[in-house]
Amino acid sequence: MKKVAIYGKIHSDGINILKKNKYNIIEISDKKIKKSELIEKLKDVEAIAIRTAKLSQDILQQCTSLKIVSRHGVGYDNIDLNFLSKNNIALAISSYSNSVSVSEHVITMFLYLCKNIAKSDNLVKNQNFLKRNLLPDFFEIFQKNILILGFGRIGKELSKRCLGFETKIYVYDPYVNQSLIKKFNCFPVDLESGLKLADFISIHMPLNKKTKNLINKKKLSIMKKNCILVNTSRGGIVDEKALYWALTNNRISSAGLDVFEKEPPDNNNPLLKLDNIVLTPHNAALTLECRKRMAIETCNNIIDYLENKSSLKLENIVNRENLKS
Ligand code: NAD
Repeated sequence: MKKVAIYGKIHSDGINILKKNKYNIIEISDKKIKKSELIEKLKDVEAIAIRTAKLSQDILQQCTSLKIVSRHGVGYDNIDLNFLSKNNIALAISSYSNSVSVSEHVITMFLYLCKNIAKSDNLVKNQNFLKRNLLPDFFEIFQKNILILGFGRIGKELSKRCLGFETKIYVYDPYVNQSLIKKFNCFPVDLESGLKLADFISIHMPLNKKTKNLINKKKLSIMKKNCILVNTSRGGIVDEKALYWALTNNRISSAGLDVFEKEPPDNNNPLLKLDNIVLTPHNAALTLECRKRMAIETCNNIIDYLENKSSLKLENIVNRENLKS
């Protein structure tokens, strides 16, 4: 029986697929576990399904039977990819599962912020219903300019939902074919022009050397004063100090963050005190439907890879070009 470790809690729908296929499953909690204990559990597994716990080289070195690490999600900053590639171990992601959930999260933040929902809610709950005319102006999304930064899986799903609001959608992604952007009824744009014309901005690119602090003071300064900025991609793409400056100096209207430079953010992070920002705990992809899909995709990646099945989604194997077979 092939041994598979589930490191971190995933939905039972995924685990049941492994059980049905007669895998021997070892469940490991990602809450504090001694390194020696962890190594003991992982040393003879052929696959690890993992959420957010760290898998560093010193642990991976001991896993001599390991053939695949399958991430529950798409980011893999918690795993030593270099080591996996050098040792012919595949790294899989569950790339098809979370785009809808994250794009709905963005729309939720857009609407929450532009409709003054928090302030309206406060008014009613504090017996100030009749003071509604004292609220600041609030707005529609209809016919506004939306800028999507990064047109991968999530960016594309978001564009489809924004079209339903009859908006004009601009996309900045120099790495995709510009005709693909047009196929989705969106307009390709360069970064600076996009930032200048957008009423709503949503970020959907990876964090890397090029995108670190991409949205800095200079970029925030050229945005419209009514602009609403949402980041559900990775903390660090928006410079949080610069964002605080922009939000407290009326340089942009408001912001929504699901991701932070440091997670969880420190208690004294000044963004936590602002009322023109909405914050969520990196849970844009954690709807029940999405957790089920991610667990299923994570486990299917393992089975399809270990059993060399034709149903394996090759694009889910991040280091496929480095593997020997
Ligand atoms: P993806 O790989 O499908 O798409 C990323 C896109 O960004 C690609 O089209 C790429 O060309 C583009 N890109 C890369 N560098 C760029 C740059 N410098 N400028 C403009 N575009 C650039 O990824 P995805 O699945 O759409 O995910 C997008 C982001 O969302 C990732 O950072 C991912 O980690 C994050 N994410 C967050 C959550 C969450 O819970 N908040 C869930 C899933 C994904």
